[in-house]
Amino acid sequence: MSQSTVREWTETDIDEAVRKQKLYFAGLETRSVAFRLAQLHRLKEAVKRNEEDILKALYMDLGKSDMEAYTSEVGFVYQEINLTVKKLKKWAKQRRVKTALTHIGSKGWVQPEPYGTVLIIAPWNYPFQLVLAPLIGAMAAGNTAVIKPSELTPNVSKVMARIIGDFFHPDYLAVIEGGLEASQALLKQPFDYIFFTGSTGVGKVVMEAAAKRLIPVTLELGGKSPCIVHNDANVKLAAKRIAFGKFMNVGQTCIAPDYLYVHQSMKPQLILAIQEAVEQFYGSDPIRLDRYGKIVNEKHFNRLLAYLKDGTVVYGGTYDADKHKIAPTLLDQVDWNDAVMQDEIFGPILPIIAYDDLQDVIDTVNRHPKPLALYLFSDNADVQRRITTSISFGGGCINDTLMHIATPHLPFGGVGGSGMGSYHGEYSFQTFSHYKSILKQTNRFDLSFRYPSSRNKLGLV
Ligand code: NAD
Repeated sequence: MSQSTVREWTETDIDEAVRKQKLYFAGLETRSVAFRLAQLHRLKEAVKRNEEDILKALYMDLGKSDMEAYTSEVGFVYQEINLTVKKLKKWAKQRRVKTALTHIGSKGWVQPEPYGTVLIIAPWNYPFQLVLAPLIGAMAAGNTAVIKPSELTPNVSKVMARIIGDFFHPDYLAVIEGGLEASQALLKQPFDYIFFTGSTGVGKVVMEAAAKRLIPVTLELGGKSPCIVHNDANVKLAAKRIAFGKFMNVGQTCIAPDYLYVHQSMKPQLILAIQEAVEQFYGSDPIRLDRYGKIVNEKHFNRLLAYLKDGTVVYGGTYDADKHKIAPTLLDQVDWNDAVMQDEIFGPILPIIAYDDLQDVIDTVNRHPKPLALYLFSDNADVQRRITTSISFGGGCINDTLMHIATPHLPFGGVGGSGMGSYHGEYSFQTFSHYKSILKQTNRFDLSFRYPSSRNKLGLV
């Protein structure tokens, strides 16, 4: 699997690719549910037949172990396809609605229809799943799709381009590989919907470009996701679940707990318990462990190393510059002025801030952009209610981390600075569908009072 031979897409090529997809969409073939189901089965078959290459590419680009790559990328995609195939007929049905008394004789219904030709732009951290999961929704809803994978994970990008190219006609699904230039050229196109996953900064660029043509968007962005550990938490379980969520994919997860807010009384036990959990998962020297992943590139590796100067490293802090690996690291004595608390960390470094009063936590989190995720460890129902009602965030868990993303029955998405719109399961179908309202009037009779008339003062017939 070499990194060479990425096709260079010129603006003219991109114009042509989008124009042909629009033409194909206009031919109505994607409107039939039978067609969509057949294509989803085909997609599953394409992934199944290429599973080994996908896992290999994920290892090459991110050092993901087969187990992690399977559960968080390939298996995730199967779960989405399976549910969609099972439920699509129901989701795609038009829905009869009541009609008002004034509309007597007529029928009303809501009819989901595909937007048309959609653009999916993806990041590098879960480079397979974050292309395929929205794509499943786009296909289920009957759209054609242009996919722009991340250039920072070139092996995964290349495998996806080959698989989609082998199994689908480019007038239906096309992968356009490349970096900034390709993205910019794509954003000039008259897409009918844009689904973007990536950073908040680039999300603004995408939304600005979309606004010029009033293209609807979903923005799946990032941010700093707090993890609150209250004074009644089950420390051992909390530590395991925090270590699981923070160090999966070496912290390069949009919904990873970004920082810990821990009740002062629990801090020493929690720090110890997280260390124990890390050693249980990755041994005492994770950076020597093949199945502990790597930071995607040197730029991100150096950005993360700079954070080690903040606060005090109480655990970890070691790294291997040749392999771009950083050990799971706990940073104590951190405050909000430190660099590590300014931007999303996106790496295996967990800053810890202690609190006495939960209200301070609520006020501080609310002073910052709305997080993509929030995690609370507490068995106290009042505390759970207080946190979930007084802080706005995309989604999250009580007494766990990450797991809310892994069920297709919960919509996944951000709010405010962490994004807009949501997907997964039926929500993906809804995201990629326009719900068209139709009123069918009867011709059997005609109520005259609705019409203007010159015959009486009220202007009625
Ligand atoms: P990024 O925003 O740098 O890049 C995402 C995609 O946009 C890539 O395909 C890239 O080529 C393209 N791009 C980059 N600059 C562009 C520009 N100026 N115009 C148009 N397109 C451009 O993000 P990233 O570094 O690949 O990913 C990390 C970010 O993504 C983190 O902030 C993370 O939180 C976020 N993320 C969010 C989710 C989610 O579901 N909400 C999931 C994964 C990652």
